[in-house]
Amino acid sequence: MADYLICGGTSYVPEDGNTGAQMFASGEGLTYQDFIILPGFIDFTADEVDLTSALTKKISLKAPLVSSPMDTVTESEMAIAMALCGGIGIIHHNCNPDIQAQEVMKVKKYKHGFIRDPVCLTPDHRVSDVFEVKKRHGFGGIPITEDGKMGSRLMGIVTSRDIDFLEPNSDKLLSEIMTPFDDLVTAPAGVSLDKANEILQRSKKGKLPIINEHFELVALIARTDLKKSRNFPNASYDANNQLLVGAAIGTRETDKVRLQMLVHAGVDVVVLDSSQGNSIYQINLIRYIKSTYPELQIIGGNVVTAAQAKNLIDAGVDGLRVGMGAGSICITQEVMAVGRPQATAVYKVAEYARRFGVPVMADGGISSVGHIIKALSLGASTVMMGSMLAGTSEAPGEYFFSNGVRLKKYRGMGSLEAMECKGNSGGAADRYFHGEGDTIKVAQGVSGSIVDKGSILRFLPYLVSGIQHGCQDIGSKSCSMLRSMMYAGELKFEKRTLSAQREGNVHSLYNFEKRLY
Ligand code: GDP
Ligand code: 5GP
Repeated sequence: MADYLICGGTSYVPEDGNTGAQMFASGEGLTYQDFIILPGFIDFTADEVDLTSALTKKISLKAPLVSSPMDTVTESEMAIAMALCGGIGIIHHNCNPDIQAQEVMKVKKYKHGFIRDPVCLTPDHRVSDVFEVKKRHGFGGIPITEDGKMGSRLMGIVTSRDIDFLEPNSDKLLSEIMTPFDDLVTAPAGVSLDKANEILQRSKKGKLPIINEHFELVALIARTDLKKSRNFPNASYDANNQLLVGAAIGTRETDKVRLQMLVHAGVDVVVLDSSQGNSIYQINLIRYIKSTYPELQIIGGNVVTAAQAKNLIDAGVDGLRVGMGAGSICITQEVMAVGRPQATAVYKVAEYARRFGVPVMADGGISSVGHIIKALSLGASTVMMGSMLAGTSEAPGEYFFSNGVRLKKYRGMGSLEAMECKGNSGGAADRYFHGEGDTIKVAQGVSGSIVDKGSILRFLPYLVSGIQHGCQDIGSKSCSMLRSMMYAGELKFEKRTLSAQREGNVHSLYNFEKRLY
């Protein structure tokens, strides 16, 4: 006799897996590694999956991706790339306020295809200077202006062709070899990219200087960029069609001045940058910002419990940043004995905050696309990343080689190195110390390096596509559907034993190559 039951149809399916509530009921802290999501039913293609997600009460993004306010991750170049790909970058504050405000302004002023701060020289520079620029930056198309800076009167242009047959150490004056202003094709300030493209194509030139009514240089367009120009249909724009950008600030009195400069620069959202955000300093600052700049969106944090979140929600935050001690460069849990495994932190805070319509950003500990999908499936609306994005060409800092490997620096903002960063009145130390009188600094992060990852403009589309495929396997057509499936108990999870985690990774091979995209 066969050992099975015939029950006349398939309408009965036994309960399988755990709901989010069941998985987190036991009280032990879980990381992203500790669980897996059970697959669902697919009746749509991956590229139909809509990743639109709320960053704050009033700002939503087409891709739920945020770059962390760290001085080895986000300055204007990263923030521009993040926004072009549908996410947002948060400019770090480990620098003087005016520098941070300038970085914000660069993002707000960015126009795709326009080089806003081209390297310029004067007519009195020498041919050897052009070779030097070419050696250092890789390009040789140089506008010649009256004082060698952007914004001054355009006198001519020197391109690679002008110096092709000259010696690199030639001391010939640029005034002798440049194409003078009267022979240049230029376009007026305010010209649209389409129009500028048309002029460049018609003129068959390599560069198009853009000038204002006083003949001063305001931008440059390179033909090379037109050829590789791409569309960014999901870019994050504000109501004026400018890219969205965020900035981090501390919670000291002096940060009010910084904030004012950031607001003037056009910042869309501020992130109050504290490792433990449930403090009187943060609550007071939230109240101050809400009364002084009612339109400005505020993300408070970091928090990992509902009780912490409650205080910030009561004070009026528009979003919460969740995570304490999960970052790749972080030693908070080891040194302070405080924090929480990240999956539990995200679930607990998101489950509470959703009742008040406050979106949650899962910050730290993301090291794969799978981790992003898990964070979103636990209730986060967006994820903030440091190590995933450090090492890309858009991250601040120069590449260097170690044992033949191309690397970039990546350091915790609570590392001694970042906190002792000289020459600025910035805020790495502020994030980790609440009292003005703290004299001995206790490091909460380390400083290290990370392998070259190429350009963010290639990496983010991979992340976006990976998240869409994950949602497809789960059977969820959008990020918001993922969350509602989880809260309805339709999304099922299972904890993984250590051997299950090993099984879920590459194993039993002699060697292998792991190429991700
Ligand atoms: P060139 O003819 O030697 O100037 O080089 P290309 O025009 O072929 O390439 C220059 C590339 O560098 C383009 O992608 C530019 O957008 C980029 N670029 C970035 N900053 C500057 C700059 O200050 N001046 C110039 N000429 N190009 C820049
Ligand atoms: P990652 O994506 O590299 O795992 O983590 C980045 C996050 O770690 C940041 O967004 C920030 O919340 C946190 N972080 C950055 N620097 C430090 C640090 O020095 N110490 C601690 N504890 N956390 C840090």
